This record gives sequence, C-alpha cells and structure tokens, in this order.
Amino acid sequence: MFFPASRMEAKEERGMPPPGIPFFVSCAQGNGDNVPVAYPCLKEDPMSHIETLCVQGGYQPANGEPRQLPIIQSTTFKYESSQEMAMLFNLEKSGYFYSRLQNPTCDNVAAKIAQLEGGTAAMLTGSGQAASFLAVFNICTNGGHLICASEIYGGTYNLFAHTMKNMGIETTFVSVDCTDEELQAAFRPNTRLVFGETLSNPSLSVLDIERFAAAAHRNGVPLIVDNTFATPVNCRPFEWGADIVTHSTTKYMDGHGAAVGGVVVDSGKFDWTAHADKFPGLTTPDNTYHGLVYAERFGLGGAYITKMVAQLMRDLGCVQSPQSAFILNLGLESLHLRMERHCGNAVRVAQFLKDHPKTSFVKYPSLPGDAHYELARKYLPHGSCGVVSFGVNGGRDAAERFMGSLRRCIIATHVSDARTCVLHPASTTHRQMEDGELSEAGIRPDFIRLSVGIENVEDLIGDLDQAFAKL
Ligand code: PLP
Repeated sequence: MFFPASRMEAKEERGMPPPGIPFFVSCAQGNGDNVPVAYPCLKEDPMSHIETLCVQGGYQPANGEPRQLPIIQSTTFKYESSQEMAMLFNLEKSGYFYSRLQNPTCDNVAAKIAQLEGGTAAMLTGSGQAASFLAVFNICTNGGHLICASEIYGGTYNLFAHTMKNMGIETTFVSVDCTDEELQAAFRPNTRLVFGETLSNPSLSVLDIERFAAAAHRNGVPLIVDNTFATPVNCRPFEWGADIVTHSTTKYMDGHGAAVGGVVVDSGKFDWTAHADKFPGLTTPDNTYHGLVYAERFGLGGAYITKMVAQLMRDLGCVQSPQSAFILNLGLESLHLRMERHCGNAVRVAQFLKDHPKTSFVKYPSLPGDAHYELARKYLPHGSCGVVSFGVNGGRDAAERFMGSLRRCIIATHVSDARTCVLHPASTTHRQMEDGELSEAGIRPDFIRLSVGIENVEDLIGDLDQAFAKL
C-alpha cells in the first residue's frame, strides 16, 4: 500500500530498507490532526509531467542507496522486541512485518501508479481480477448492489454477474450509451457503487466518465473506473470525477507479457462520512483492530486503501510478488513511449482496415466516424489505445482462415502487449457458443480483436494485407 502522508513523514529515510514507508497509522501520527497530507500538486512539482513520473516516480533512493528499485524478496521483517511487533499488529506503529500485507518493493511501485493517476493511495494486487474484486468488495458486501457498464471485460462480467452474485451482491448492467433516465432507474437504495471501463475490452466503447460520475454522486456512491486500456498516459479518470481507479497491470503497464498483476488507486475525494450509512465498513469500528474507524483515523485520502490492505489483503491474500512489481516498474518506465507508438500504429492500422474491401466492420474510437469518436476526443485527446476490433467478410470460417494466414500478428489470449497479437473470440475464448449466443454476447462470428504492438506499422499492415489476399 502506498499512502503519501506516511511517505512524507518518512522523507528522511525515503529509500529502503523498511521501515522506509511506514504502515497504516503513520498518517494519523504524522501530521497530528489525523488529516492526511495530499500529494504535492503535480503542477508545482518538478516531476509534473507524466513522462517524468513514468521514469522517476515512486522509488526515491537516499544517499548511497541503489539507483534501481531493489527487490525486497522477503516474506518477513526483523524487529528487536515482540512488543514492537505487537504495536505493528495493532496498527499503533508504522512498519513492515509480513509481505502478505505490505512489501517495500510493491509499495514503491504502488506509489508511482498513485502519482501517475493523481491519487492519494494505492495498492498492488496479484491480478487485474483481484483489483476489480477488492475495489468493489471493500465497499459492497452481502446484500449490496452495484451498477456496471455492460460493455466490459468478460472476466469482470463473470465476476460480477455470477461469482459476486453467489456472495449476495447484485449487479445491474447498463449500456454506456444509456440515457440519463435509464442510468438513474438502475439505482436502488442498496446501490453502493458504479463501475465501468474507460475503454471497454473488447468492444472499445468509451465511458462518459463525467456523466457516470455525476449520476453516482447524485446517488451518494462512488464511480470506479477500470483504466486498463487507456492507462493514465491517455486518460486520468480522477480529473473527470471518478473516485477510484483499477488496472490490470498485466496489460500496457507491464507491456511485455511478463507479469500478471493489478492495482487499485484511490482519489481520496469521495466523502465516505457524508454517506456513512452506506459505507459502515469505513465509518464504524473494525473490531478486528480494537474498534478502529478507518475514515476517522486515516481521513478521506487513506481510509479506503488502508481498509483494503488491513482487512482484505490480510484475509484474502491476493498480493503481487515483489519480483512481479519489479518487472511492472520496468514496464512503467517506458509506458509513455509505448502508448504513443501503440496509438500511432493503431490509427494507421484502423484506417487501413476501414478502407479494405474485405472487412465487414471496424471499431476504433479514435477513428473519425466511430460511434464514440466525440467521447474519445474529449477523454482521450492524445490517443485511445492499441486495440482495434474488426470483422472480415465471410463470417466465422473466413475469420478463422484469415487468422491462420497471419505471420507477424501472433495468435494469443493476450492484449495490450508490445508484440502485436490477435484473437478470434468465436473460435477460441467463446468457442462453445453457437452464432446466436455469440450475437447475444455482442460478439459477431467474424469479430477479430487485434492488439496493435509497437513494431514498424508497415510490417503489420503488410501482414494483414497478405492474409486478406488469401481469403
Ligand atoms: N480489466 C480489463 C479491462 C482487462 O482487459 C482484464 C484482462 O484482460 C482484466 C481487468 C483482468 O486482468 P488480469 O488478467 O490481470 O486478471
């Protein structure tokens, strides 16, 4: 977990080893009045630009410390007395004690991502799925309800529609293109949050973040945005009113298909205490920590993430390993460069596909004429992402033949990678479905998801062209 108030308190000992970044209660002790210090305004900070934060955010070595982020490959941490250790367990003192809760390598990477998103606190998770689950379950438990955009990653759909339903949590799915009235009609007295993806996987719809945030706030609940496809390089949902951001860091943030991971970031802006009856987990005593009230002790900037670490990580244990966090950090260092190239290549590829006589449709929000073009211009003015969806004339058979002819574009169940990869859902991830079922799921039999990488774009277009020629 990264929480800047604690980090500032520890600025004399900013690097490692622990306790370089103190533990939960440090924010309460740090500034004396239980109000966490917000992260320095990016505009006044020499590291105000996203490119600099990608490279130099997070880990700040002190004199004589390693320049590269060290991997603290240790499950546990040494203390001089059991009494001191007991204070850590009681959340009365700051420090690391067991890597299921916190690890210095992971915290430094969480710090970088919190800076990139402009948040107050962040926590790495073992996968993007874990990030989605924890982000919701932290504030919505048995008997609760959430509203989710229906254009959403299939794994998130399964999580909300089935697994969390079995846990007593109901989800209402609404289209990102629904009217304000339809959105409002989805709210119930037990609604605890609204969830959507900045850019949906694989349908590439753009969420109108301001509109969804306004509806959520009118009803006293936060908006959680999965920002995986856009990344903070292309969109920072907090600037448009979102309250919490999640990522599958497995995708662009890592970018090299090397480490599965996720992250949850809090903006620190949602006032849990103003809606205390909806969020008792944050506003009433936690008896597993001797009656501590997260919102009181850690303030708006720290309550949500601290509870997530202290309760959910403690009990569910879906942590990211320090090794994976190190790999993720290497990916983050070039995120800004890669996103620029991904988007530049994808625009060229999308235009090529749109002009090709053998395509049946092309979906890419940064392409003029796309249904979400205006929203993409508003929320993603510098580019959307590297993923392009399209279909080939001739249906499922033609799509399969086309895929089989590709040489540079590798068939893989992956997306948002430096290497171009391609997936035909109808013959792979959705193979069991008949054509009718596919259409209900919004996936045409000829639907191809192309994740454009950072290679030379002429080579990619050449590969697509030769595969079309074989149809
Ligand atoms: N969110 C989005 C938008 C995704 O595309 C994915 C995976 O593809 C996930 C979440 C889940 O992430 P992970 O595979 O890291 O668990």
